[in-house]
Amino acid sequence: MSIEWHILGRAGADNALQVTVDSGQSRESFLFDCGEGVIEAMRPAEVQAVAHLGFSHFHMDHVAGFDGFFRLNYNRPDAPVTVWGPSGTIDLMAHRFQGFVWNLHADQPGEWIVREIGTASIGTARFLTREAFAPAHRQPDRPRDSAVIHQGGSWQLEARLLPHGSIDSVAYRIVESPKRNIDPAAMRHHNYLPGPWLRTISDEAEKDEALVEIAGQSIRVGELRRELLVTSPGASLAYLTDFRIEPKTEAWAGLVEWLAGTTTLVCECQYRAADTALAVKNAHMTADLVGRLAADAGVGHLVLHHLSRRYQPSDWLAMRDEARKAFPRAEFPPHWEIR
Ligand SMILES: [Zn+2]
Ligand SMILES: [Zn+2]
Repeated sequence: MSIEWHILGRAGADNALQVTVDSGQSRESFLFDCGEGVIEAMRPAEVQAVAHLGFSHFHMDHVAGFDGFFRLNYNRPDAPVTVWGPSGTIDLMAHRFQGFVWNLHADQPGEWIVREIGTASIGTARFLTREAFAPAHRQPDRPRDSAVIHQGGSWQLEARLLPHGSIDSVAYRIVESPKRNIDPAAMRHHNYLPGPWLRTISDEAEKDEALVEIAGQSIRVGELRRELLVTSPGASLAYLTDFRIEPKTEAWAGLVEWLAGTTTLVCECQYRAADTALAVKNAHMTADLVGRLAADAGVGHLVLHHLSRRYQPSDWLAMRDEARKAFPRAEFPPHWEIR
């Protein structure tokens, strides 16, 4: 299992995050935000493989590239596109779908499922290409009592609403299911010889009551699992952008608790510490605060993105170093080649 990720867009331009979760059996693709030109870094087949398009919010720099995404996916036949976003996403997407002339659509495949994430519930509407996206087929709201908004086969998608001035910005986190591996020390302890039975006990589809043969002896799968399997947490990746939270507040503590132990934190880094007044006014984070957030949450590493256009390349390294003061494992996306 693995989580592959790639920041789209350059430093100081619109950014987005492309993620693929590979379970070994299947691959699931995500795109978080869709600013201007971001999908140019993706092959058309990659754009057409995106199952979940998650918007943080609908400021222009996060949605200006949506037409290109829509053009490649509006009538895709194999699987629906699921769009996630904050409250108001269903109306907003309905308007975007209506921003085109539709007269050759009647026989076209294509289904879009739009879900808006509120504090206590998730709203859903289906849109069909063959209906020119005209009726929004509303479904009953689903109550939301935890961060989990979607359960995949080997992963779950979580969301948290962050304050971005007077609006919400959705933070997303993908968490792989815990991994169960064979413990070599336990193998030696029980004197088991390796064989095809090892694959049987690792196969989730296999029942505990099933029997396997080891050196002429029949043993239950459940018993072997108890003896030999060790569980370790799966990898996780969080995407945060466009928000402002002050340290030592309840909101900060809640965010830290949610992010605790996340493998990779991808976080906005809009302003330098010296521009805190501007950051507060525009409801964004500064580099030093982002480093502090990563340190408080004990994440594995921090990837900085979404830098303000006001800065020159000479400021960028200084921003990274401001984040590194509290959290030394802060980096820019490798392909930005900022050294
Ligand atoms: Zn933004
Ligand atoms: Zn914004």
